[in-house]
Amino acid sequence: MTCEVDAPNVPTGAADDVVELSSRWREHAARFTSARAQLPHGDGALLVDRASAVVLTAPHGTPHYRAGAMKQADLHTGSLTLLAGEVANVSTVVSAGARAEWDTWDERDDEFTRHLRDLREPARMLIDIHGMGDHHGPDFCLGTGPRPGALEELAVEILRTELEPFEVAVDAPFDARPHYTVTSLAQRHLGLAGLQIEVAARWRSPRDEAAAPAVSALAQALTAVDERIREAA
Ligand SMILES: [Zn+2]
Repeated sequence: MTCEVDAPNVPTGAADDVVELSSRWREHAARFTSARAQLPHGDGALLVDRASAVVLTAPHGTPHYRAGAMKQADLHTGSLTLLAGEVANVSTVVSAGARAEWDTWDERDDEFTRHLRDLREPARMLIDIHGMGDHHGPDFCLGTGPRPGALEELAVEILRTELEPFEVAVDAPFDARPHYTVTSLAQRHLGLAGLQIEVAARWRSPRDEAAAPAVSALAQALTAVDERIREAA
């Protein structure tokens, strides 16, 4: 299913804009909830194609099956990804339910995975959005996956610079190396670059305007990554 998106009305700084970004986030959260309710079997995904080099993914915005068990949602990562994609003007693929059991990417065949397998140029890099607990410390953790190359290195460099003064960790505590990560799917199966971004819980609340600066900074950083990845040889 494809999610229709209104023409972006993008805030760019200051207090009014934080309020506006926050209210836009709540709209995405409401839309995500109603899209989930309309899915017949509880599994599905929202694709918004903006013909970008970077494609944002959110596999854990809902309770999901992973490595032998059901896991709780990475709270608000679905709506955060829809919002960041809209502001950054990059494509998004957001899982709206993933309860079917799977062990390897070869056998997984739900709508989320099919959208990723069907990606074509100019898509070059999946950036996979997750949520981590505040107790880990950093605001963001970048995971470079099992097979990082030049594009991952470039994206890490840009994100570390653009996300200042937020604290950005790399590969610890989360490196995205396990076989079941979307980063692993991108690097090992799809011929794409891949990077995971874990966002601390304190920056994942659509109802708290104090959380808006992080998603704003993230969206701006993602625009920079998209531009540079597009130009990279
Ligand atoms: Zn996750």
